Amino acid sequence: KRILCWFRRDLRLDDNTALLAAYAAAEEVVPVFIFDDAILSRPDTGAVRVAFLLESLRNLDENLRARGSRLLLRRGRPEHVLAQLVTETAASAVYFNRDVEPFALARDARVRAHLEGRCAVEGFDDGGLTAPEAVRTKAGTPYTVFTPYRQAVLAQPIPRPRLAPAMLRTPADVPSDPWPSLKDLGFATSVSPPPGGETSAQARLQGFIQNGLARYATERDVLSADGTSRLSPYLRFGCLSPRRAYWAAREAVPEGSPGMESWIAELIWRDFYRQILFHFPYVETGAFRRAYDDLAWENNASWFDLWCQGKTGFPIVDAAMRQLLTTGWMHNRARMIVASFLTKDLLIDWRWGERHFMKHLVDGDLAANNGGWQWAASTGTDAQPYFRIFNPTAQGKKFDPTGAYVRQYVPELRAVPDRWIHEPSRMPPDVQRAFRCVIGVDYPAPLVDHGRQRAKALTMFGRFASPE
Ligand code: FAD
Repeated sequence: KRILCWFRRDLRLDDNTALLAAYAAAEEVVPVFIFDDAILSRPDTGAVRVAFLLESLRNLDENLRARGSRLLLRRGRPEHVLAQLVTETAASAVYFNRDVEPFALARDARVRAHLEGRCAVEGFDDGGLTAPEAVRTKAGTPYTVFTPYRQAVLAQPIPRPRLAPAMLRTPADVPSDPWPSLKDLGFATSVSPPPGGETSAQARLQGFIQNGLARYATERDVLSADGTSRLSPYLRFGCLSPRRAYWAAREAVPEGSPGMESWIAELIWRDFYRQILFHFPYVETGAFRRAYDDLAWENNASWFDLWCQGKTGFPIVDAAMRQLLTTGWMHNRARMIVASFLTKDLLIDWRWGERHFMKHLVDGDLAANNGGWQWAASTGTDAQPYFRIFNPTAQGKKFDPTGAYVRQYVPELRAVPDRWIHEPSRMPPDVQRAFRCVIGVDYPAPLVDHGRQRAKALTMFGRFASPE
C-alpha cells in the first residue's frame, strides 16, 4: 500500500502528524511538495520567504534521504498534480496536515472534490499546540480574549512530540521535477534569511533553551538584545513542531519559571491567532470589530513610503523598518511600535502595513501578522485599547536605552550622543554639525507632531467608542 504525503507548511520529519499516520498505514510513502503558482504570484509573497522555503525543502530532502526516502518536487495546481501522482504511483490516499488560512481551506476543498472516487484524502491537526476547534468557552463559542484562552489551553493535555520512524520507505521509480533556483521561481533578493530547515530549527531551539529561556522574561523587550528565540520562521514553515518547542521549554526549567511561562504564553498567542483566523475568516480583509471598518483613515501615500523606507525622522521607527528591509525580520516590540505609529500617528489603514510586512518578513504568516496588526490598530480581538497610543520617542528611550538598536540600523545617527539618540531634531544646530547629523540634510526632521496626531487619532477612534 502507498500513500502520498503532501508537505505544505510542515517541513520536518519530527512530530509530523500526517507523515507518522502515513507510515503507520502504508508500506511506502511518497513525500511531495508542490510549487503552486497561485501562491508564488501573490503580490505579498516575498523573495526572502521563498528563499527560506527553498532551503527548508533542501534540508527536508536531505533528512528524508538519510532515512532511505527523498522529496519529490512538482509544480502546478495541487489538485491536478496530486491526481497525476495518484495515477503514477497507484497510491490509495493523500495525507496532509490541515491549515487554517482561507486560501488553503479553499484549495484543500478543491483537492478533496477533485480526488473523490480516485483515492482517500485525510487532513490532520498538526500546526498548533491544540487543534483550532479544540479550545472553546463553556458556551461552546471560540475564545476572543487571550488570557482565558491561555488558561484553557494550559488546562488541556498538550500532546507529547513523537519521533519519525528510523526508516522511511519510498518507491524508487517516481520522478521529481528538477530543483528550481530562487530565480527559476521568479524571485531575487539581497537579504540573506536565516538558514532554513528542520536541522537548523532544532539547533536553534536547543541553543535558546540552554542560553535564552532563563533570560527571556527580562530581555525579550530589549531591542538590541538577542533576547528572543528567533524561531518564528521555523514555526511558520513547520520546520519545528510547536509541541516540540512547548515540551522542550516545559522540561528544561522548574515549573513556574518566569522565562518559561512567558515564552509558552507566546507560543499560545500563535495558537490564539490561528483559531481566530479559523473561526472568523473575515479578519483576512476586515476589522475583527466590524464597526471599525468605517474608520476614516487618512492614507497619505507619501507618508506611507517614508514609513516603509525608514525615513520618518523617528529613530526607533526608522531603525525597525530598516531592520525589516535589510534582514527580513523585526523584533516584536519594534513591530508593535511601528504598527502603532503607522495607524495612530500617520493615520494609515493597518492593512497597508500588514501587506508591507507580509512582503518582507521571513516569518510572514497571515494569522499572526493579521492578529498583530489588528491588535496594534485597536480593531482586533483582544486589542490594545484605542486610547492607549505609544509615544515612539518614549518607547525608544525605554526599550533601547543606549540607542544601540538605532545605531545598528540607522548609520546616519551613529555618532549622535545618547542624550539625543531618540530625538536628534532637538540637538542644537552646532551639535548637529559637530556630529555630522544635520537634521533635514543627513537625517529627516520628524514627519509629524506626535501630540497633534495623537489627538486626531483619538477623535477618529472616539466616534466608534466601544463598538462590538
Ligand atoms: P519569541 O518571543 O521567541 O516567541 C516564540 C514564538 O511564539 C515565535 O517564534 C512565534 O511563533 C510565537 N509568537 C510570539 N509572539 C507572538 C505573537 N504576538 N503572535 C503570534 N505568535 C507569536 N509573528 C509571526 O510569526 N509572523 C508574522 O507575520 C508576525 N507579524 C506580526 C505583526 C505585528 C504588527 C506584530 C505586533 C507581531 C507580529 N508577529 C508575527 C508576532 C511576533 O512579533 C513574532 O512572532 C516574534 O517577533 C518572532 O520572534 P521570535 O521567534 O524571536 O519570538
